[in-house]
Amino acid sequence: MVQTLKKYIISTNKKSGATNKLCYCRVCYNKLGEDHPNLKTIADKTDRILKHFKNCQNFQDLYSQQEKDEVFNSKEESHLGKRKNKKKFHLHLLQVTISCGFPLSWVNNPEVIELFKFLNPQIKLPDRKTLSTEILSDVVKDFDAMMLEKLALDRIGITFSFDGWTNVHEQELMGSILMSSEEQPYSLATKFEPSTSLTRRRPTDPLTISRNVYNIVMNNSFWELLTKLKQILIPYCRILNILQGDKARLYEILHGFAYFYQF
Ligand SMILES: [Zn+2]
Repeated sequence: MVQTLKKYIISTNKKSGATNKLCYCRVCYNKLGEDHPNLKTIADKTDRILKHFKNCQNFQDLYSQQEKDEVFNSKEESHLGKRKNKKKFHLHLLQVTISCGFPLSWVNNPEVIELFKFLNPQIKLPDRKTLSTEILSDVVKDFDAMMLEKLALDRIGITFSFDGWTNVHEQELMGSILMSSEEQPYSLATKFEPSTSLTRRRPTDPLTISRNVYNIVMNNSFWELLTKLKQILIPYCRILNILQGDKARLYEILHGFAYFYQF
């Protein structure tokens, strides 16, 4: 029986058969009294109790529409609650699998099944295939939705960072991380592109550079500009080095900002 119905019935010690407990409808019990021949016992099961309430004039007269709705929806809500709990349980299983580095087959291990049975005989562990397909994809879908909602509502702003590297097969990988203002990282995707260069340079090939690059590096004004750029950037680099240090002093930060501010 679902818990919401508890206040609408009176439990008894009577039993029907070996397992089913019997109860009374509370309104009927109060109106008729315990020994009244019209007071019928009901099997303590949601369906049976709801069936009585539907046909019970006493119940219909006493309670408001809101209370009646609550009673008649309780079964669906309890189903919904059970589904939610099952989902939560599956999420925990997946988190344990990843966090402990277990192989997916751990949920099929007889000793593990025995342990869960000991903790709660009603628990049924999913198959490892279900864990790696349906459950994993459901969790990823939920997580994506939650991530998008959180990031969209972030009032301070988010940071997007990328990193690229090449693996041993010369494939170019790109990882991207989204960071919320609470410094919660969300890994978005890792994408790889096959290398664009089809042939690798052999050590015996003569060293050459393209005409475009040659024109630039042989131009004097390029080097003059580069030196100028370096001179401009040096103070910025020094200040940024100070600002990013965890031992930066307040006056150093003030001087730093004062330097930036003068331009
Ligand atoms: Zn009744």
